[in-house]
Amino acid sequence: MVHKETTTSLFSSPATSPNCHSLSDFIFSIDHPPVISSSPSTMVMCVCRKWAIVRTSWTDNNPGRRFWGCPDPNSSCGFIGWYDEPMCARSKVIIPGLLRTINKLRKAMDDIKEQASKHEKAMEKIKEQATMLKYYLVYSWIFFVVVLLFLL
Ligand SMILES: [Zn+2]
Repeated sequence: MVHKETTTSLFSSPATSPNCHSLSDFIFSIDHPPVISSSPSTMVMCVCRKWAIVRTSWTDNNPGRRFWGCPDPNSSCGFIGWYDEPMCARSKVIIPGLLRTINKLRKAMDDIKEQASKHEKAMEKIKEQATMLKYYLVYSWIFFVVVLLFLL
């Protein structure tokens, strides 16, 4: 039996407001998902006859829990079975909170990088203007000396 599961990036944010802490966008429903094996040496074949790969779920129900999935992202196989055992209730509460914190820090870091990039560009412009002003100063002194020589 094949189950479907949707996964999202660890760092994707919900489409709702930034203050919304629900991960409902990531929710999927599986009543009794199979646990295939937690042995790293286990090989699992998906429905489309390819070796399944281990992926990580970032849903509210299974945050950080690994599962077997089809290696082909365009395939309809999707979820095959769980790699890890079911998660404890405490983990289901703690991990999404940590993920939200990571996402906020990532966003803040991206904003800082963007601002740093803007400041760097502004600094380049100022340096170019300073160089131009130096040339104007040198040319004006040369002009002044030439005019002075003509007058004398
Ligand atoms: Zn497949």
